[in-house]
Amino acid sequence: MLDEAKRVFEAPTTYKNYIGGQFVEASDGAIITRESPAHGHVVSRYPASTRADAQAAIAAARATFDTGDWAFTYAGDRARVLREVARLIRENADELALIETLESSKPLSAAHGEVMFSAELWDYAAGAARILAGDSHNTLGDAMLGVVLREPIGVAGIITPWNFPFLILSERLPFALAAGCSTVVKPSEFTSGTALMLAHYLKEAGLPDGVCNIVSGTGDPVGQAILDSDEVDMVAFTGSTRVGRAAIAASAGNIKKLSLELGGKSPSVVFADCDLEAAVDGVIKAATINMGECCIAGSRLLVERTISGAFQDRLAGRLAELQMGDPLDPASRIGAIINRAQYDRIDALVRDGVRDGARLICGGDPENHAGLYYPPTVLGDVTPDMNVAREEIFGPVLSVMPFENVEDAIRLANASDYGLAAYVWTENLSTALRCSRRIKAGRVWVNAALAGFPELPLGGFKQSGNGRETGRYGVEEYTELKSVHLQIGPQAERWVEGA
Ligand code: NDP
Repeated sequence: MLDEAKRVFEAPTTYKNYIGGQFVEASDGAIITRESPAHGHVVSRYPASTRADAQAAIAAARATFDTGDWAFTYAGDRARVLREVARLIRENADELALIETLESSKPLSAAHGEVMFSAELWDYAAGAARILAGDSHNTLGDAMLGVVLREPIGVAGIITPWNFPFLILSERLPFALAAGCSTVVKPSEFTSGTALMLAHYLKEAGLPDGVCNIVSGTGDPVGQAILDSDEVDMVAFTGSTRVGRAAIAASAGNIKKLSLELGGKSPSVVFADCDLEAAVDGVIKAATINMGECCIAGSRLLVERTISGAFQDRLAGRLAELQMGDPLDPASRIGAIINRAQYDRIDALVRDGVRDGARLICGGDPENHAGLYYPPTVLGDVTPDMNVAREEIFGPVLSVMPFENVEDAIRLANASDYGLAAYVWTENLSTALRCSRRIKAGRVWVNAALAGFPELPLGGFKQSGNGRETGRYGVEEYTELKSVHLQIGPQAERWVEGA
């Protein structure tokens, strides 16, 4: 793989937009150049598209949707295309993973796992296309049959971030296509390579031209054009709560539907009766996966006071063994941070925390590591009002707070504007059930961290967003319901008397 990486360093890949089935440059020829954050080499060049390019993609999606060819095609045929895309993803998994790693600096083994899981999502969506169904009401009296149709919502915009570029796209796009939507995708300006590679697989798999359009570029103008457009019926946005709010404002134009997956500040809740070794490992995984650049990162550790000291010691010991370094090295668990701005933001928040009275248990010394590597950092003596307890840091930073009992743990877990995920570590079934039911989060793991399945929905409570992706719910998200009232035989009454 190192040889393959060298090949990319010597000859960075140039990508094109995919609009109406054509591979095209930005209309003004402008490009975005992406350097690998870990290696400092240029690895990709993508179109820096204009508002007009985004509008051309929207127009292509609108036109194909309105013909009804994809929307009304037999679901079995849609499924065949999606399954073929899954096959092509698996066939090209090594290359997809390499590009993902070079652009994002996530460890290559993680990137490979994400690509393979993405293929599962495409396969699952293929199956879900065929079981998507409406409903019937045979209870409306002798003369009326009610039929509830599930129809594709229309043109769906999909705006994705840089942290899990291919995975997040695969949690949305195949589900929208399974439902029969036409789509416009805007990947992150930092990690557009794999989305633009996917365009070639869509074409090869036989997806009709215009059903999926992929346009790279910056949030404004490309993403903004999608949000603003009256020709777009729905937008699935994944990213910051700040842009999520802007999406809500922009959606007012044509009252488009939004599915939002935004920030998080998820708790790992550790009870004294847990399997300690498993909990330490799971807490570390949840806090440091993808360098903590993860919307469901377990970035708050709530630990029962009686084991708090011992748990923190064990945590620091195990963290010291976690390998940080070149993401191409198979032994690396922690790669580089996505860019300098994000790295500086992480460091500023850690320093804020220390100034506010938090105690540095380990890490927090990026100056001792060359490049954009931020060491896993644990802050003790954190109180719920501190910034480090409230703000999404999006780095490998864990803030530790003790709790007294189950009720206190639930109160602290819910003391956040966010509600994306929670991790509960206990051997007590009642404690596990109480926490699972009371903690306000879209996903709860009990004695596990981050295991994912295409069958289960994901999304957030509170300011973490709304709507659900994946599972059968993920396909339904891209549909509208229509009630059809079918009169059987002549009407019993006339509206106009005597007519
Ligand atoms: P953003 O919300 O800025 O970016 C997410 C996507 O939205 C990108 O494709 C971005 O484009 C696009 N975008 C930006 N501005 C607009 C706009 N006006 N209209 C439409 N689309 C727009 O997140 P960042 O990448 O800047 O990350 C900032 C913070 O957000 C992180 O530190 C983290 O806290 C949070 N975040 C949460 C994620 C999650 O999974 N829930 C994922 C990523 C970030 P562009 O290519 O220009 O960036």
